[in-house]
Amino acid sequence: MADEARIHTLEDLTDWQEPGTLLAVVGDPIEHSLSPAMHNAALAELAARDPAFRDWRYLRFRIPADDLPAALPAFHRAGFRGLNLTLPHKVRAFDLIPEISETAQPLGAVNTLLRTAAGFSGTNTDGYGVARAVEAAFGRSIGEREVVLLGAGGAARAVAVEALRAGCRRLWIGNRSPRRLGELTRTLEAAGFESERVCGFLFAEPPRGLPVEPLLINATSSGLKADDPLPLPLDHFGSGAAFYDTTYGARNAWAVACRERSIAYADGLPMLVWQGARSLELWTGAEVPVKTMESAARDALAAR
Ligand code: NDP
Repeated sequence: MADEARIHTLEDLTDWQEPGTLLAVVGDPIEHSLSPAMHNAALAELAARDPAFRDWRYLRFRIPADDLPAALPAFHRAGFRGLNLTLPHKVRAFDLIPEISETAQPLGAVNTLLRTAAGFSGTNTDGYGVARAVEAAFGRSIGEREVVLLGAGGAARAVAVEALRAGCRRLWIGNRSPRRLGELTRTLEAAGFESERVCGFLFAEPPRGLPVEPLLINATSSGLKADDPLPLPLDHFGSGAAFYDTTYGARNAWAVACRERSIAYADGLPMLVWQGARSLELWTGAEVPVKTMESAARDALAAR
């Protein structure tokens, strides 16, 4: 069993001696990542089914932003089979990696690297993660009704592309400030999505025509803390709406506001689990025990 809490660094890779088939999550900060717990729980179950997985382990690395260009070849030399990238590396890696999947192209960000002969190829499993989590929480596809997406950063990008690809008739994107909002709407247009399907707005100026019972998805950082104020009040929305919150770990003001309005609410932990499950599936080619991953992630979160 790997020492899940141990934080490795770039220096450790210079003379890497650890045995086994290795995977890792790479970020900075990294001490709070739930990924080692959920992946190692899944690997233990896979190993019980198939001895080929007995030497697989999933580690954690703190790699500062500026060290990523040196770290990627070092991971390859050390024999790593796959990597998950988290803050602050997802966008930078997109520019460093020559082979990017079609899924990740319009996102400009990768969260999963797969070993190739020469280095790593990159893809992004966040969109898959949110789509599966929304389906599990509300019993409907992410593209089935109009979506009101809150936020225009990296997570919002993955949600937007996934919803539009799944057939969402109209995607409303609200953001606190105009810069990232404009970048996202332009990216979606450049990716070939019809501009009539995408409507951007600022939280300070909610537009006429905003649907009353949409699928709302919070992809802002607001809600990470229990006392974060709501950037958009939910007064406009009716009890037939559903709210998927990509944040998790705090009973936040979104959860409280949804409860007050009888709006179905689900937090972002299952999104984390499904994106991780998809990464593990890509690395192993095996059917992955998603429920085991979810309970390991919940246990690790409770112990935090
Ligand atoms: P980014 O930094 O790329 O984007 C942050 C977004 O949040 C921007 O739209 C920003 O608006 C907005 N924002 C930040 N603070 C506030 C605030 N106080 N009020 C209103 N809006 C605010 O971050 P990410 O996209 O990477 O992450 C966003 C969230 O998604 C995080 O909470 C993260 O935990 C979650 N996430 C969850 C995942 C999961 O698996 N469950 C996976 C990835 C992310 P502006 O442009 O105006 O600054």
